[in-house]
Amino acid sequence: MTNMQLCRFYEPTSEQTRFGLLKDGAIYPLADGELFNLLDLPELPGLSAKPHDQSDVKLLAPVSPSKIVCVGRNYKDHAAELGNPMPDEPLLFLKPPSAIIGHEEAIKLPAASSRVEHEGELGVVIGRRTHGLGDSENPLDYVLGYTCVNDVTARDLQRRDVQFTRAKSFDTFCPIGPFIVTGVDPFDLQVETRVNGQMRQRGRTAAMAFPVSYLIRYISHIMTLEPGDVISTGTPAGVGPLLAGDLCEVEVENVGTLGNPVRASK
Ligand code: MG
Repeated sequence: MTNMQLCRFYEPTSEQTRFGLLKDGAIYPLADGELFNLLDLPELPGLSAKPHDQSDVKLLAPVSPSKIVCVGRNYKDHAAELGNPMPDEPLLFLKPPSAIIGHEEAIKLPAASSRVEHEGELGVVIGRRTHGLGDSENPLDYVLGYTCVNDVTARDLQRRDVQFTRAKSFDTFCPIGPFIVTGVDPFDLQVETRVNGQMRQRGRTAAMAFPVSYLIRYISHIMTLEPGDVISTGTPAGVGPLLAGDLCEVEVENVGTLGNPVRASK
């Protein structure tokens, strides 16, 4: 598939949330359902709809998934910094769709935690329904594109609870975006997280214990992956605290930069 930047935005004229294709600073609305048909199109869809100037529309998180499947301890240096052994199989957990926010929306620090941390990650956006991928199938054929994810975590609650659910699931704990980028090779991309411009995490996806194609196949044998579902592939070393007033940025090479301010919750 060619290299495209896809987004989701609110269109004031139709009062609808729509998917769009970003090209030369203009956003071309896509017809309903067209986003997930892109995998089957031989070339770019016709850009017949009247475009919007990018600065005139509010970008939303680029997908509205049925689930966000996250992978823990997928980078050896991160497992080591938290004092954890590497798992023999991918360590999976879920984040709820209610935690999602888009680019430039605020991460809100919950009163229940005194230690909220960033985890910059490569996000995989599924483009085609799949379950139980066969050995001869290529998992990447089921990928629409890639995006940036910040797997925000209440580290103190994660250490206290047996399950990850509470620590990973507060509202605003899943910034995603700004775009879905198609036609990217996911196997050796730099993933960097900055707080107030200072580098905190920097790793390469080549260092994953379980690479993207392995993860898609593995997860597909557990649960049906639906178009729009997101797999967040784990974070490299360097996780650290987020404080009110910070700006946290997750940059994935060839994919984009996701920026979110941090606020105290009221
Ligand atoms: Mg994570």
